[in-house]
Amino acid sequence: MTQPSTHPTRVAVLGASGRMGAAACAAVEDAPDLELVARIGREDDLESAVEAGAEVAIDLTVPSATAENVRRLVEHGIHAVVGTTGWTEESLAALRTQLADAPAVGVLIAPNFAIGAVLAMRFAEIAARYYDSAEIIEMHHENKLDAPSGTARHTAAAIARGRAEAGLGPVPDATEKDPDGARGAVVDGIHVHAVRQRGLVAHEVVQFGGEGEQFVLRHDSFDRISFMPGVLLGVREVAAHPGLTVGLDGYMDLG
Ligand code: NAP
Repeated sequence: MTQPSTHPTRVAVLGASGRMGAAACAAVEDAPDLELVARIGREDDLESAVEAGAEVAIDLTVPSATAENVRRLVEHGIHAVVGTTGWTEESLAALRTQLADAPAVGVLIAPNFAIGAVLAMRFAEIAARYYDSAEIIEMHHENKLDAPSGTARHTAAAIARGRAEAGLGPVPDATEKDPDGARGAVVDGIHVHAVRQRGLVAHEVVQFGGEGEQFVLRHDSFDRISFMPGVLLGVREVAAHPGLTVGLDGYMDLG
């Protein structure tokens, strides 16, 4: 855990006028141990966060901007908590290289800040050992650009790890004909079904099946406020975790 600080941690929010950014600004303002010192939008210079003395910056911008934002934050010794999607193996590798020369700086890249979604991924990895069948259904709002979701991909990878540890082979499936892709995408050997529907926010169902039983894990984010406890956990912990951490579970004691 981080040591208690004598002053509120000074926080900048990048993407402050976006949906997530606005919620993050409100959450930081409501936290007595944090102080919001800069709201950065697309037109603002990131230098204003430096001038405001930000110690931690939250990046909730767009995939095309986030890597350069984080590069500049690390350059200035500012810890970064990043929820923006779009990171690639190449951009993560470049960040790791930069962080090697900035050993005191921490960066958290969290594909999902919802505590329940992170727990569901962990629980899915444990359950995967005990069931022959496993499938994922992810459901999101109609404006989501990518499918399947990053969380569903990570969940599939976690299930695949659990199955491999238990020595389980491929999931049983006799499908021979599926010209329209009704069985969904296959990620790490796990079928993933993506639903896009107006009214939804972010939802995931993981179904496990064994002889005569079904076990279901479900997580629903009904509102962006559900991401804020995870954002604040990241802000409070990032300075105590130098280097790059991918996934909020890196800051949670999940065994
Ligand atoms: P949004 O409403 O479109 O907000 C993005 C904001 O970033 C906009 O206000 C945009 O300004 C601003 N922006 C763009 N380039 C910028 C730059 N270079 N510097 C500063 N601000 C910049 O999107 P959102 O729904 O809030 O989501 C933001 C990101 O968080 C997305 O990548 C989304 O996938 C991700 N997300 C993550 C989680 C999680 O749990 N990790 C959960 C939900 C969403 P303009 O309006 O001027 O373009």
